[in-house]
Amino acid sequence: MLAPPELPYAVLMPRSSDTTTTPLARQISTCRLCADRFAATATAHAPRPVPWFTPKARILIAGQAPGARVHASGIPFNDPSGDRLRDWLGLDRDTFYDRARIAIVPMAFCFPGYSAKGSDLPPPPVCRATWHNHVMAELTNLSVRLIIGGYAHRYHLGARTNVTQTVQAWRDLPTGTFALPHPSWRNTGWLKKNPWFTDELLPVLRARVKEALNDG
Ligand code: SF4
Repeated sequence: MLAPPELPYAVLMPRSSDTTTTPLARQISTCRLCADRFAATATAHAPRPVPWFTPKARILIAGQAPGARVHASGIPFNDPSGDRLRDWLGLDRDTFYDRARIAIVPMAFCFPGYSAKGSDLPPPPVCRATWHNHVMAELTNLSVRLIIGGYAHRYHLGARTNVTQTVQAWRDLPTGTFALPHPSWRNTGWLKKNPWFTDELLPVLRARVKEALNDG
């Protein structure tokens, strides 16, 4: 079984406005469709879905899948990637975790496990096929969509280019939609090689996020 990693983060208590959830989110939280698949991975873990949305949300964060730390805490982006993403968005943790304002909907709701080489496995396609259309149908109040990483770029944007090319074409996307790289430490080199992301894209993104939250 997967040994829970040490967490440098205190367990976050939800804000009062975060306690609202939906029947669909409760249904997803009991899903065990991938039990056999996860049991066969190097981490041999059980499913732990992390659905994080309500229909009121103004901002969608559409990523790849929870990592091992999120699997242990049950809180999305409660890790260094989340710290970087919050910095990109100009948001504090309270605002980021307010489900009444921000929906976090990855391509799979569970940690997919590690391969024998220690890499994150891809999100199981059955999760998207089973849940995504239902979740997206509930999110009718969105004003900003953040599409993070290659899997989400392909699904949400129909991207046929690599992550750099997709992100670089951000001005061609519909207003309020942003393609982003994964905020993982693994992409620190990418950020250095592509300063336009920090200098040009992020200021526009932060302004759009602020506007969406103020409108909401
Ligand atoms: S990844 Fe998705 S489909 Fe698989 S067990 Fe988790 S919630 Fe269910």
